[in-house]
Amino acid sequence: MKRAGSLAAVLFSAVLSVTVGYAQSGKPGVERLYILNCGEGVAGDISRWSPGVNEGKSMDFVDNCYLIKHAQGWFLWDTGIADAVAAMPNGLAPADPKAVFWRRPKTLAAQLDQLGIKPADIKGMAVSHTHPDHVGNVELFPTATLYVQKAEYEWPGANNVPRFKPEHPVTKLDGDRDLFGDGSVTILSTPGHTPGHQSLLVKLPKTGAVVLSGDAAHFKDNWDNRRVPSINFNKEQTQASMQKLSDTLAKEKAQLWINHDKAQRDGLKMSPEFYD
Ligand SMILES: [Zn+2]
Repeated sequence: MKRAGSLAAVLFSAVLSVTVGYAQSGKPGVERLYILNCGEGVAGDISRWSPGVNEGKSMDFVDNCYLIKHAQGWFLWDTGIADAVAAMPNGLAPADPKAVFWRRPKTLAAQLDQLGIKPADIKGMAVSHTHPDHVGNVELFPTATLYVQKAEYEWPGANNVPRFKPEHPVTKLDGDRDLFGDGSVTILSTPGHTPGHQSLLVKLPKTGAVVLSGDAAHFKDNWDNRRVPSINFNKEQTQASMQKLSDTLAKEKAQLWINHDKAQRDGLKMSPEFYD
């Protein structure tokens, strides 16, 4: 009876999972991926991310958003620094001088417009986590279903302010999620930087598999040395998540694209060029 009950539970949850989000029964496959410039900045002291290493040294950071064209519709991963920062002549200074001083050379809205895409065309979106350099433009897309870990959604913000507008359409996740039901785009639960941090596995037809890091690591040297920033929510979870990503890279023969790594981004094609 116990077995039958758990099988029924599995079937029931499978039924539930196809009733929300993308159709899951439409055409399979990712067609292309664009990397959008969602910020450029300077970190005041990079030892904030690498405890005891490079103390007092500054470093250039970048901030990316990724736009994915799937046969079932557009999907946006991360939304970057708020577009309003583009109008600030001196950029956005951080409260902590060791953190990142951000500028916005181009808005996200303008980059979508250049591609002929309206915000309402974006059917689904996800953010790796709820820090301001990732959620700055969520409400540019009030009709896009947000895919977010329950742990992140319910993590109280400063003064208990909710992290997302309660009226924003949302699918709360508890772990990994095959977004389109065809294995082409998978949200990977990678907690640690924040309680419900997540990363994204994308399988492109020609480029092959790519993992978008979120902030599971902030730059390659920290990834290579498995360093955990002092600002992270949970050190053990961060280390376990880096191991999970490492295992995924090996299994899928995937590249790791690290969101804030300027040296890596300098070698990648930016929108309107794309990866297919
Ligand atoms: Zn970040």
